[in-house]
Amino acid sequence: MPSIRQSYTVTVPEEPPASVFPFIKPDLRRKSPSMSRSMLVSTFVGLLINQAKNSKHAQGLVGLRNLGNTCFMNSILQCLSNTHDLRDYCLRNTHRVDLNNNCRAKVALMEEFAKLTQTLWTSASNEAISPSDFKMQIQKYAPRFVGYNQQDAQEFLRFLLDGLHNEVNRVTVKSKAPGEDFDHLSDDEKSKRMWNKYLESEDSKVVDLFVGQLKSTLTCSECGYCSTVFDPFWDLSIPITKTSGEVSLMDCLRLFTKEDVLDGNERPTCHRCKARRKCTKKFTIQKLPKILVLHLKRFSECRVRTGKLSTFVNFPLKDLDLREFASNNCVNTVYNLYAVSNHTGTSLGGHYTAYCRSPCTGEWYTYNDSRVSPMSSSQVRSSDAYVLFYESAVSSRM
Ligand SMILES: [Zn+2]
Repeated sequence: MPSIRQSYTVTVPEEPPASVFPFIKPDLRRKSPSMSRSMLVSTFVGLLINQAKNSKHAQGLVGLRNLGNTCFMNSILQCLSNTHDLRDYCLRNTHRVDLNNNCRAKVALMEEFAKLTQTLWTSASNEAISPSDFKMQIQKYAPRFVGYNQQDAQEFLRFLLDGLHNEVNRVTVKSKAPGEDFDHLSDDEKSKRMWNKYLESEDSKVVDLFVGQLKSTLTCSECGYCSTVFDPFWDLSIPITKTSGEVSLMDCLRLFTKEDVLDGNERPTCHRCKARRKCTKKFTIQKLPKILVLHLKRFSECRVRTGKLSTFVNFPLKDLDLREFASNNCVNTVYNLYAVSNHTGTSLGGHYTAYCRSPCTGEWYTYNDSRVSPMSSSQVRSSDAYVLFYESAVSSRM
């Protein structure tokens, strides 16, 4: 086994063992105060990343074995492995710093996720690897993933990001202060305060990348009173416009942000009328995340799935501009696609694959469990597209 594979399983220690830094003389490792720990770490990271660049097999083009209906997991893991900043967070072992800073008992999920990502990017062969150690940890975190039933990829993504976030949360002591009332503030001020309040308890690399803020506005049909609520979101579940033909992602986003009437049993309580009133509700994206995950609602929301919409949703690979749906404060509203989790088949049974654009080469690849093969970018759009991963064009590497 090449030494590079052993090295990342070792915690970056105060005094690195010879196996981690074989290129540094032993006496230098022990004595020289000029060779600081951070220098050693950055040399090591350089080596790791060079290894990833130089080896023709080491470009994240490694498949994941199917352990029995685990294609939903493999599909999402490959999308995340091709998420540039998250991959580097794992490759550079930055997650260790966050894990060490909070002395929490549970760190195993992040460790296994990082180990898996590192293996995908540094493996000396292109043979598929088994995600069984990782699976063991995710099912400890979320027991619903015990066993080998087909699961929903988007739900899995939610659980996984939540689990990773909890282990590397920079906040270790959460404030118990009672919620403040921001209702007298302007919407912009209110959204900022709400966001800062959120960061006071939830703040991590995962939040830095994936979390945005959604504004919902409720307007009373009787008195016109307008109330706004700002909630963090980890992804957006976008309804698919009902039509017989093809629809565009923009049309689906327009449906998502369209004014909706809440009436009958759904009537909310108006703060001014102090009674349940027919209201209109509308979503606006208040804060856009670096990585925008769009979940196409192909399945009905009931626990028992009845059907699947196999509508072809036409989404752009480049320059998705969300200005129309975002608040005026959002400056960077343009996004590029870098990964898609696909679902083929019906609501009763099917198969998940992933299409990902390599953060190194910009080329697209199909990840079908253990098989990885090049593909044309013209094939990325299909009626199987289920979860879309977009990155802000500002940080995009296209
Ligand atoms: Zn009212």
